[in-house]
Order: sequence, then structure tokens, then C-alpha cells
Amino acid sequence: MIDLHCHSCFSDGTDEPEALAIKSDALELTALALTDHDTLEGLPRFLAMQPEVKTRLVPGIELSCRFLGKELHILGLLVDHQNREFRARIDEVRARRNQRNIKLVERLQSLGIDINLEIVRTWAPSGLVSRTHFARQLAAMGIVGNSPEAFRKLIGENGSAFVPFQELSPTEAALWIHEAGGVALVAHPGRFAAGRFIWNDAMSELQRFGIDGFEAYYGEYGPAEQRYFLELAARLGMLPSGGSDYHGGNKPGLELGRGRGNLKIPDSVLENLEAARPRSINGVFHPWVS
Ligand code: AMP
Ligand code: MN
Ligand code: MN
Ligand code: MN
Repeated sequence: MIDLHCHSCFSDGTDEPEALAIKSDALELTALALTDHDTLEGLPRFLAMQPEVKTRLVPGIELSCRFLGKELHILGLLVDHQNREFRARIDEVRARRNQRNIKLVERLQSLGIDINLEIVRTWAPSGLVSRTHFARQLAAMGIVGNSPEAFRKLIGENGSAFVPFQELSPTEAALWIHEAGGVALVAHPGRFAAGRFIWNDAMSELQRFGIDGFEAYYGEYGPAEQRYFLELAARLGMLPSGGSDYHGGNKPGLELGRGRGNLKIPDSVLENLEAARPRSINGVFHPWVS
């Protein structure tokens, strides 16, 4: 059993990267990918745990993109996190996130909410500030009853304080990921803002843009959703991926490898992703090609 999607405290999870490695080993997962939002910063500490654990530790990232005017998350798995160009590109995305956060604070203040970036940062120990941290602060202030309500009423796509994220396109994300030697996958189709696409059509479009596959297994899918997305992957000739999207205490009830209890992702999923890694880009062979 594997898990190819989780977050550390370097984005909006609450676990240290080392703790994720140790937990996955204790759960006897064959592989675990760390996929923090728009940052590679947790990966050196995560991968440094490899000698201590049997679980294979896989480098990854979850990039915030926009597709047809809506938020869409693209996962890059098996990426070379030391690739200089890739790192520079991710730094640029990070700068755009910081600008979004400043605007989000202004929007909330204009609604009469007494919030600032410093206070939101107290929820984000490793520096990257996400809307998850805004949601926790808004709940702590009693402005909303809980985090999901913060997204529904204020900071989610239909909320009154919503600020759209940067304009990274799935095409661009796929190219960056391929150039860093990884595979590009749509995260959690059918969840969050991405819920309103007609997936049959949207996926074949994304496939033309270079996306390799999507999460057919997900921590919060029911059996019918899993079946639908597995069949869609087979029909389109795209790769199924999957993970729990574990965030520690920031998303209670989700467990590594198991999701809400019934998640079971076969090892063959990672083997197929591995086989699909680009062998070369612009005539330059990636280092793992012998
Ligand atoms: P950001 O990357 O800062 O835009 O924040 C996005 C994160 O907020 C996602 O990765 C989820 O963890 C969380 N999120 C987004 N939409 C919702 C929602 N409707 N309910 C709960 N959490 C959400
Ligand atoms: Mn998140
Ligand atoms: Mn996501
Ligand atoms: Mn995620």
C-alpha cells in the first residue's frame, strides 16, 4: 500500500517531514510522497530520512493552477527537487502567493474583520502561508464556527473575500514538472473548486496539455467516485494516482495511507508512474536514464 499525497508543516500540514517518514514506516506503507503546496522546502529533510525507514520516500509538490477560470491543483511526483530551473520557477510562484495573501488580508479588513498577516503567520510555523492558516485564524477569532465555514463564507471560491490565485496554467505546470523529470497529475478531481468540471471532457483537454494522469484514489472519495475515475483513466489512457491528502491536525479524520479508513492504493500505481517519467527533454537525457 502506498500514499502519494500528503502535506508537512512546510505548507499547511502540521507534521514535521521526519514525522511523516516515521509514521509511514510504522504503517508499513511501501511508499509515501510529500507534496507540499508550492514549495520544495520540506523535501531535503523528508528524503534525508530514507536510510532510517523501509518506506520509499518520494519527492513531490502540489502546484496551484487555474484552468478555465477555476482553481486546479497539479501534483508533480518523482521530481528532481534540486533542479535549479525548477526551484527558481517555484520561488516565483511563492512570490505570487505572498501577493495573494496581502490582498486577502486587505479584502477581509474591508469586510470589517480585524486580521493581519502576522497573526495568520502564527499558524504557519515554516513560513508558507496558506488559506488553511487563514481559516484557522478566522475560526479562532470566532468569525466562523470552523475552517470549512471559513472557506464557504469568506475565502473559498464563492466566498465574499475570495482572491484568485496566480495564473499558472496546467500546461505550464506540466512542462515544469516534466523538465524536472517528474510526472504531472491532476489532484483530487471532483473536490474543492475543481468540482464543477465535466471531467470526461476536461481530462482529455488536460491530457493534450501534457498532464499524465490524475488521482483516481483519494482520501475523501467514496467507492463510486474511485470507480468512476479509475474507469475514466483507463478509457483515456491516462495514469491513475492517489493519496490521502493527509494534513495532520489541519484536516482531522484523515490518516496517512488510509484516508477516512478505506483507502487502499496498490504499489503498481507508483510502478506505472515511474515507467512514465520523461526520459529526456529537448534532447537532454535525465540522469536516471541509463
Ligand atoms: P491556498 O493554497 O493558500 O490557496 O489554500 C488552499 C488549501 O486550502 C487547500 O490545499 C486545502 O487544504 C484548503 N481548502 C481549499 N478549499 C477548501 C474548502 N472548500 N474547504 C476546506 N479546505 C479547503
Ligand atoms: Mn492544503
Ligand atoms: Mn489540493
Ligand atoms: Mn493536497
